[in-house]
Order: sequence, then C-alpha cells, then structure tokens
Amino acid sequence: MNEIEVLYNQIRTHTEFYKNSIPLIASENLTSLSVRRCYVSDLGHRYAEGIVGKRFYQGCEFVDEIERMAIKLTKEIFEVEHANVQPISGVVANIAAFFALTEPKEKIISISVPCGGHISHDKYSAAGIRGLEVLHYPFDYETMNIDIDKTKILVEKEKPKLFVLGSSLILFPQPVKEISEIAKEIDAKVLYDASHVLGLIAGKKFQHPIKEGADVVTGSTHKTFFGPQRAIIMCKKELGEKIDKAVFPGVVSNHHLNTLAGYVIAALEMREFGKEYASQVVSNAKKLAERMHELGFKVLGENLGFTESHQVAADVSKLGGGAKVAKKLEEVNIILNKNLLPWDDVSKTANPSGIRIGVQEVTRLGMKNEEMDVLAEIMWNAVNDRKSLDKLRDDVKELKSKFNTIKYTFDECIAYAFPKLILDAD
Ligand SMILES: *Cc1c(COP(=O)(O)O)cnc(C)c1O
Repeated sequence: MNEIEVLYNQIRTHTEFYKNSIPLIASENLTSLSVRRCYVSDLGHRYAEGIVGKRFYQGCEFVDEIERMAIKLTKEIFEVEHANVQPISGVVANIAAFFALTEPKEKIISISVPCGGHISHDKYSAAGIRGLEVLHYPFDYETMNIDIDKTKILVEKEKPKLFVLGSSLILFPQPVKEISEIAKEIDAKVLYDASHVLGLIAGKKFQHPIKEGADVVTGSTHKTFFGPQRAIIMCKKELGEKIDKAVFPGVVSNHHLNTLAGYVIAALEMREFGKEYASQVVSNAKKLAERMHELGFKVLGENLGFTESHQVAADVSKLGGGAKVAKKLEEVNIILNKNLLPWDDVSKTANPSGIRIGVQEVTRLGMKNEEMDVLAEIMWNAVNDRKSLDKLRDDVKELKSKFNTIKYTFDECIAYAFPKLILDAD
C-alpha cells in the first residue's frame, strides 16, 4: 500500500467510525452536499485580499459576487447593520474583535474557563495576544450564569474597557441587557461571542445579543450554525469600518474562498430551515436532560429546566469524573467531552467533574425526542455497567443506523462518506 492509500484508509476508518457513532460534541456539526461541493471548487486555490470591490489582485470579479451574497444573507438572517464574513475561525474573529475594540494593557472582563468561557477570552490566547488584562465575572453556580450584583461591585472598582459575553458551556441566555447598561455607564463596549449558539440565534431560539445591547458579535459558523469551519463578525454600522480593518489586514490574508462559498449555502439553508431546526435542537436538549435526570444523572440547571440551548451538562464526579465517563462512552461509540464545571479548579482539567453534550448534530440527522430517551438510557447503562459494552455498542449502532442522512437542507444526502471525486464539470 502506498502512503496515499495508508492515509485514505485512515479517513475511511474514521468515517466508518462516525457512521456507527452518536456524535455529541457540542461544537461540531455536519454540512450538506451543496456545501461540501464548494470545498473542492477552484475557489480553494485563490486569494481575494481586501473587501468587496476593492481587491489587491485581479481575477476577483466572481468572488466579489459570492462575498456580497454572504454579507447580504448574514445581514438578513441576523437582522444586523454590518457583517464581516472573512474570519477563518472563531478564535481569529475574537482576535480581530479585541484588535478593533481595545488597546494593549487595557482591562477586559470575561467568563472564566471553568464557568464556561472560551480560552480565547483569556490571557493564554486571543486576549493575551492583544496584551489585555483579564478579569472574570463573579458567577452563580445555581443559575449557571453571571452574578450581576457582584459584577457591579467589581466593575465599580476595576472599570474594564470591554465586557466579553458568550461561552463554550452555555445552557441559558446571559444578561446581555444588564451588562450593556453597566458598560454604557463607564463608556465600555460589549462583545458577545456567539460561537456555540449562532445557529440558534439564526433560528430565533436564543437571545439576539445586538438587539439586547451588545456592540459586536463574533461566532463560529460550524457549531449550531451548520456551515463550514470559519466565522463571522456582526456589529452596528458605526463600528463596521473598524471591524473590517481589524480583520483585513489585521488577522487574515487569505480568507478561504471555498468555505466562504459553502457558508453562503449554509446561510440559505438556515434562512429556509433554521427555525424548524433550532426549535428541534432545543427541544431535544431539554428532553435528553430530563430523561438523564430521571435516570439518575446529576444534570445541571435543574431549577431552570436544565437548558435553553443545544447543550446539556452533567456533574459526573460520583461516577468517576468526566474523563472516565467520556472514555467509557467512547467505548460504546458515544462521542462527547469531559468538561470543567464552575466549582472545578483548573488543576482538575485532566479529570474534571463534568461532561458536556450537544444535540445539534444528531438533530441535523433527524433525531427527535423519542431518540433522546433511548440515548439517555444507553448512556446510563454504560456508565453504571448495567449491560456489556459490546451489547451497548450494538444498541448505539442500531439507533444510529436510521439516522445517517442530513436534514434541514435542499439536497438530503448521506452524512458520512469519503467521496470518490470525479472532477467532471456540469
Ligand atoms: C469554539 C469557540 C471558539 C473558537 O472557535 P474556532 O472556530 O474553533 O476557532 C470561540 N469562542 C467560543 C465561545 C467557542 O465556543
């Protein structure tokens, strides 16, 4: 076997594994056939530095039209005044936002990683690259949300220049309105990182940060928003030029035109099917959480109905911890991740208390409330050794076998395939 075949075989085995698995990683999703077709187009070989109509290279006439569509659709779906569709990932979008909204050494306030914040909001990543001093919001474990009263006291003293909202572990809407009012009083800005919930916002099932007072929204386009792996930035008109300049020449040169075209298709799908999809996602998350709770899992957010997003979080410290539980579930082909919980010290990163589950991908495959019940039961049986792992893996394969087609798209297609690519023009 030559090396190319060795590599291809890895891809085939990986794909087959996913076909037989239940994917519950909260930051992932599947793209439709029309989106994937764009990936392999000639666009992936080109550059289009600059903004629409003002490029640095020749040959961009058709790319301009594609990017114009991407911007127009983004503004329409999210009802915003300005959109930049060039960031090639969520972290890159955040670096651009920090570049546009702050000066080095300024103070920002964000949600800590154990409380659900993303590492890019912290000094180890994007905020650190900009040289920012990072404070963390006081957090209420009961409501899994920012403690506004304590935040007011901290802000009074520290006066941060930027308030960062949005999380990677996000069960409930955050107090955007209250934070925006606090920010306004001290002439600070509010950035909401919607990476996880972008598809739910598009489907009108989650808070709209700009309508609630945020200045800028960043977000990955491949988590609940089922597009290619890249990101967008949205803002009010006044900040548009600043944001555009922070993206290019700030943090992108090439902005990956093939996935940009794929984003246009995902946006069209979202415009058409987004409401139906987002409602089913949240309904599935709630159902899964309820059934897990009934069975005996310690599901977070009980007082508030467990979740209002695509996520479910459980404290599994009594079951051996997040690492052990996630590994055990992987053995029965259920893929999820261990997760720090607010009461975990960062030193617990290797085996934190929690697991995080996202139901957006299985929802895109057509799963409904019924399947959430089955899934919760398999998980409970697995973590409590109630049945052999072989039997449970068969149960997973059986459940999954009926859900390997991508829904909420114009061209339903099989979800997991390593395609034979015949370049044949239409
Ligand atoms: C996933 C995530 C990111 C990073 O996005 P990438 O596209 O992976 O770079 C940023 N912020 C939040 C809140 C996230 O959850």
